[in-house]
Amino acid sequence: MRVVQFSGGIGSWCTAQRVAAQYGADDLVMLFADTLIEERSLYEFLTASAAQLGAPLIRVADGRTPFEVYWDSRFLGNARIAPCSKILKQVPARRWLEANAAPDTTTLYVGIDATEARRVPGIRRGWAPWRVEFPLTAEPGLTKDAMLAEARALGLKPPMAYQEGFSHANCGGCCVRGGQAHWLRVLEQHPERFADYEHEEERFRGEFGDVAILKEQRNRVVRPLPLAELRRRVNAAARDVPA
Ligand code: SF4
Repeated sequence: MRVVQFSGGIGSWCTAQRVAAQYGADDLVMLFADTLIEERSLYEFLTASAAQLGAPLIRVADGRTPFEVYWDSRFLGNARIAPCSKILKQVPARRWLEANAAPDTTTLYVGIDATEARRVPGIRRGWAPWRVEFPLTAEPGLTKDAMLAEARALGLKPPMAYQEGFSHANCGGCCVRGGQAHWLRVLEQHPERFADYEHEEERFRGEFGDVAILKEQRNRVVRPLPLAELRRRVNAAARDVPA
């Protein structure tokens, strides 16, 4: 069996394309771990691409959202440590593999590209005893734009996040691994999602003290940068712009 870790991102889509082109889709499975907060366009892209390839789309889920995981683990995800990724994606996917995919007859495929090749050893270790391949690392010049164009040429609509300027499509843009620039884009493109996260983060801070999704460095000291503060700065900067 060939199992593509299919997040709905364009890299994982392109990986499935390469695997199907090389081996056919007869024993191909698209494995999707649902965080429950993906954008509708991403869910639609998953379904349409699996149908086009003729491969089953398997959905696994922990049943919690990222913020529910932060509350349960009493730890706010951030750029350095994101428990959501492990608990909502890796654990349910591994559980499915253990029940359905013998390691000696299964290959996993992960959609990282040549620019991320340094992650290969860690990912391989993480998925042992399954064998993991990374077809896109063999295409050094392949860009995200080229992959998006490839999908559109096949009549598919990639997740909206790419059109909105995000480099990753998951969790509706609300990824705790994104930095300040990423969250400024969330504020600009999806103010209601930013407001939800800001509200949740404030509640979390009320319980656990001075922690935040974002950090900033000032005078060589790294401090939490709450989303509420980021918004205040944006508003203040907008007020200072001469009419
Ligand atoms: S995309 Fe970001 S927020 Fe969502 S599960 Fe992965 S690390 Fe967590």
